[in-house]
Amino acid sequence: MATTHNLGFPRIGAKRELKFGQESYWKGQSSRDELTALGAQLRQRHWENQAGLDQVQVGDFSFYDQVLDMSFTLGNIPERVRGFHGDTLDNYFRVARGRTARGTEDHSACCGGVAAGEMTKWFDTNYHYIVPEFSASTEFKLDPSRLLEQLAEAKAQGVKAKPVIVGPVTYLALGKAKDDSDKLSLLPRLLPVYAELLATLAAQGVEWVQIDEPILVTELSAEWQQAYVTAYDALASSKVKLLLATYFGQLLDNLSLACKLPVQGLHLDAINARAEVATVIAQLPQDRVLSLGVINGRNIWKTDLNSVLDWLEPVAKQLGERLWIAPSCSLLHVPVDLDSEQKLDAEVRSWLAFALQKLGELKVLATALNQGRDAVKAELAANGAAIAARRASPRVNNPAVKAALAKISPALGQRKSAYPARADKQAALLKLPAYPTTTIGSFPQTGEIRHARSQFKSGALDAAGYKTAMQAEIERSVREQEALGLDVLVHGEAERNDMVEYFGEQLDGYAFSQFGWVQSYGSRCVKPPILFGDISRPKAMTVEWIKYAQSLTSKPMKGMLTGPVTILNWSFVRDDQPRSVSCYQLALAIREEVLDLEKAGVRVIQIDEAALREGLPLRKSQWQEYLDWAVTSFRITANGVDDETQIHTHMCYSEFNDIIASIADMDADVITIETSRSDMELLDAFDNFNYPNEIGPGVYDIHSPNIPTEAHIVQLMKKAAERIPAQRLWVNPDCGLKTRQWEEVIPALKNMVAAAQTLRETA
Ligand code: GLN
Ligand code: ZN
Repeated sequence: MATTHNLGFPRIGAKRELKFGQESYWKGQSSRDELTALGAQLRQRHWENQAGLDQVQVGDFSFYDQVLDMSFTLGNIPERVRGFHGDTLDNYFRVARGRTARGTEDHSACCGGVAAGEMTKWFDTNYHYIVPEFSASTEFKLDPSRLLEQLAEAKAQGVKAKPVIVGPVTYLALGKAKDDSDKLSLLPRLLPVYAELLATLAAQGVEWVQIDEPILVTELSAEWQQAYVTAYDALASSKVKLLLATYFGQLLDNLSLACKLPVQGLHLDAINARAEVATVIAQLPQDRVLSLGVINGRNIWKTDLNSVLDWLEPVAKQLGERLWIAPSCSLLHVPVDLDSEQKLDAEVRSWLAFALQKLGELKVLATALNQGRDAVKAELAANGAAIAARRASPRVNNPAVKAALAKISPALGQRKSAYPARADKQAALLKLPAYPTTTIGSFPQTGEIRHARSQFKSGALDAAGYKTAMQAEIERSVREQEALGLDVLVHGEAERNDMVEYFGEQLDGYAFSQFGWVQSYGSRCVKPPILFGDISRPKAMTVEWIKYAQSLTSKPMKGMLTGPVTILNWSFVRDDQPRSVSCYQLALAIREEVLDLEKAGVRVIQIDEAALREGLPLRKSQWQEYLDWAVTSFRITANGVDDETQIHTHMCYSEFNDIIASIADMDADVITIETSRSDMELLDAFDNFNYPNEIGPGVYDIHSPNIPTEAHIVQLMKKAAERIPAQRLWVNPDCGLKTRQWEEVIPALKNMVAAAQTLRETA
């Protein structure tokens, strides 16, 4: 008999109830009791949703982030939030977001804001966790209250509970030593607290604990591998059974290590590491449970159940009672319920499965394994029909796109001349001053803009009315930029709600959900568009807006596009072809847009690749392959233009040290990056690498309401000029200004333009 379980359930609620609850509590609009009641209600509902599984996880719910929860369970609370007013949850929100709820924070003097904890990406997902902070003097102290309370709730509900915790080695690995001390030296202090936690859970009658150790799918040094041995030897005598959970990839050189750790079960991501299943079975001691993640926890596609059974049935025979099945990873990364969708195209919908549907699939698989396929004959037939229909659908397969893809050659990604020759022609055409000034694309998305968009979407405003409203916004941006004296203007992106969705909506091969939200961090959710078929561009997407903007000014107007790699990385993408193929298709479609802009007389075109870096695989050994196709895709998109047309790209980060050669290989004429927060420190990458083209290091931190002074900007630019020849420098903000107010943007840009003027005069 195969046992069914789950690794984690989306906590936000099918209608994002958690988001609205958190935000209203933070604003002081609802009480602490209302927030805690909402948490209990969501947990209860989610356990009901998972009824029928043999084990249901407890502790995957969180008021902000599961890693931060673990920090509080371990008593690892940064010094700076201690001694404030309020209780543990207040401090929890202080670490999460720099402040707790308004009502609590009104105790003025004692409760000012504190620096929020650093946030970073959870492995290669779009979820962000709060980085644990360590120093040589970090002490741990168990606080099991959260888990115990939730365990009691689960018990009252009659749930067969399996607590989930982040494992000690992954916890240390994900954290940061603020004093540069060696994190691993904390392990001996950390392990007794874990042992105490497991003993506490055992005393509650818990049988199994899921202990997440996903860093086992990354490259580990011998020291970190040894830490695994030490840690799990120390926990071996605990009275609960441990299910060591790995996910997001293959174990590779950590495989033998994972198999020999003294735990009672191992979870393997059988989507990404199917190839390792046989080796794991061979190496895992005979008394261990093997949990296989056979449903993809990262995408929104129906599982091909018949084909999973084809390989899983022999495995089940071999393992008998030792086999557990589950999704590959926590379902945190998928939306909650496909049944919420009212408007989704029926055909596309028939190919999809969100969290609840995935758990349904898991149950079908378990029944087929435990009672034979006949017991779920109808379900398997329906599933088979959906899979076959998707495979054969003309909506998925576009022969013209496949033919265009087959014709891609290196020449497609090659500019006509090398950068120096292009730069001369561009200079002659654009006649820009030294230290040219520009912005990254968006201007404030005002209440009026959002209002017009929602009126248009609901039908209250017709297309002509919407166009007039957007043109008025474009005109306003252009006038403001002219008054400021910026050199290369933008249209302001008023018509775009989101830089990926805007393009997805106009490309064939994309679908959109209404409630397909996934938590990104805290109360922030994203709704990635669904790339389901071969991608093509029925008609120009941006040309009319940019042409209109250009018609209002004699200054050069930048065309503004999102690049193929970013569109890919911020979408749910198809699983029936390599990501690289989908990316090349996007590249060809956006290339057509680039060429249409050029034909319309637009001489500066920016192609944003905000998400290029986050697509890097978990293992460094796989980076180059990704970078090769990502850079090729960008080049296909950008490089069909004439020498005179200036290509810009933008990236919202600048940890470039390890990928600078690939960035240079994109061969954009100008790249704008984020640098102001780090005081140009991030330009260190340029110390050892002679970046050949032009760069605009961001000098205005758009994440903050603060207005940078002229002197500060001049000073930052002078630092930049120590690394990059001044004639190749641009002056611009870190990123788009969409989230700011005009009242902040105008004085900031005034100072920026004045700084450029000063630089020109003093250079
Ligand atoms: N052009 C986009 C903007 O200005 C870029 C946003 C981004 O890099 N995330 O908003
Ligand atoms: Zn950006």
